[in-house]
Amino acid sequence: MGANNELSELIRQAREHLTYYRELGLTHIGQTPHLNKSETIMSKQEKTASGAASLFGELSAPSLEEQYVNETLEDIRRDLGECKRCKLWSTRKKIVFGEGSARAELMFVGEGPGADEDASGRPFVGRAGQLLTKMIEAIGMKREDVYIANVVKSRPPENRAPEKDESDACIPFLYRQIAAIRPKLIVALGNPAAQALLRTKTPISQIRGKFEDYPRMPQIKVLPTFHPAYLLRSPDKKREAWEDLKRVKKFLDGESEP
Ligand code: URA
Repeated sequence: MGANNELSELIRQAREHLTYYRELGLTHIGQTPHLNKSETIMSKQEKTASGAASLFGELSAPSLEEQYVNETLEDIRRDLGECKRCKLWSTRKKIVFGEGSARAELMFVGEGPGADEDASGRPFVGRAGQLLTKMIEAIGMKREDVYIANVVKSRPPENRAPEKDESDACIPFLYRQIAAIRPKLIVALGNPAAQALLRTKTPISQIRGKFEDYPRMPQIKVLPTFHPAYLLRSPDKKREAWEDLKRVKKFLDGESEP
């Protein structure tokens, strides 16, 4: 290929790249803009979207947290709408968005609504929810002080675990809730919540009780512990859960570093 042809080919490729990135909604090339709200890291999917380093240097697709910076919980709820992004919409009664303080320092995240939550539209109101309320009160807080949400916002039928496509469709809304609230600490209740928030396959038995960085915003910590429904079935595990709650309290009181 001659020099002129090579140049034409480079220009053609450059145009194609720019069109592609414009279609992705990118408005800038180069450094990620400074965020006063949060540090973020990109998911693998978002990194793939930002694609091959090109002629233009590093191109970064904005993360969800950058895209939706400064939005409120009300904005997120409005955007969720009468969600039909996965098949769970056809069997649910009510969407369970989450509830609590928009300024909570402490967040609890469970797996997904059960029958009571589906009927009421509120998270953790059944038997497991009553135990969660007691756990919150045991560390001197009230339900209204914290924020409670789930990985999926619609009830999986027969209380089965959420399937991957369901979690994948729903979890961006949880990420956005976390970014809007910016708690100090998220207590992940049970395997699905811990694994989804920490992007790990390590079982809860191995990560329980250990503070981790929330990968999307590392200044936020995640503490996995047992799900209250599991504690109802296995009361002998309550002692370990209590140890975890004491860690939560100490951390929030500034008495311990994770
Ligand atoms: N279990 C969960 O994981 N979430 C709820 O909201 C209720 C029960």
